[in-house]
Amino acid sequence: LRQRLVKAEKLDAVEQMGAAISHEIRNPLTSAMGFLQLLEDDLLDVKKQKQYLSIMKEELATAEKVIQDYLTFSKPTMDSIEVFEVQEELGKILKLLQPSANKNSVKVESEYTSLSLIEGDRQKFHQCFVNVVKNAIESMPNGGDLSVTTHSNASHVTIMIQDTGVGMTKEQIERLGEPYYSTKGDKGTGLGVMVANSIVKAMKGTVHVKSKVGVGSIFTFTFQLSNKNDKIFSNQDSHYATVGR
Ligand code: ADP
Ligand code: MG
Repeated sequence: LRQRLVKAEKLDAVEQMGAAISHEIRNPLTSAMGFLQLLEDDLLDVKKQKQYLSIMKEELATAEKVIQDYLTFSKPTMDSIEVFEVQEELGKILKLLQPSANKNSVKVESEYTSLSLIEGDRQKFHQCFVNVVKNAIESMPNGGDLSVTTHSNASHVTIMIQDTGVGMTKEQIERLGEPYYSTKGDKGTGLGVMVANSIVKAMKGTVHVKSKVGVGSIFTFTFQLSNKNDKIFSNQDSHYATVGR
């Protein structure tokens, strides 16, 4: 029971996060606005102009990063529960993040043993896996392999996001999901995993992490299948795979 209470408190904290995050966005925007006003001075020399512009660019990039990690999560929950196909959504995410993968020379592979329908908020599911796949790609700045696989049994689908990146220490794994915990300095928000975890919880799913420094990480998710699967896929046991993109 005690553990349950702690969990409930954590959820409350996450719900209040919206306010804290507006603050995280407002700060850099206010700063950018300040420098914009300074730039209105006609007598400003070019060197100062360039300096102010570069500060503005950084401040706006910070605000954008926070919004990106938090995007669909911060939208009011309008009970948009639908039945959707896990693999279709994962495909969209990999397509969306392919440019980032290319930038890091990351080879992307996906393999799906069947198509799986689950029930939940599709946009939040999307946000969750954007954050997880983004982290996997960012963990491989000098190239590597990203593998996205799904398996399902009669009741559940398992989604594995595997990278050959920097990996994590035990301490880092323990701190995963803590708001603002990031090892990426200016490039991180420390909100991605927190948002992903909350979405998994809301969808009554589970997530497990296995990682080794210098080897890579595996994030394993499970979600309950929608009973709609029975009707559509009962006769289908074909093997469905996309390898290489
Ligand atoms: P951010 O990506 O902005 O740092 P996140 O909440 O998305 O914030 O992630 C928090 C931290 O968890 C990262 O800074 C990183 O240290 C660690 N992390 C998450 N995913 C991975 C991964 N696939 N490989 C290595 N480290 C990871
Ligand atoms: Mg992240």
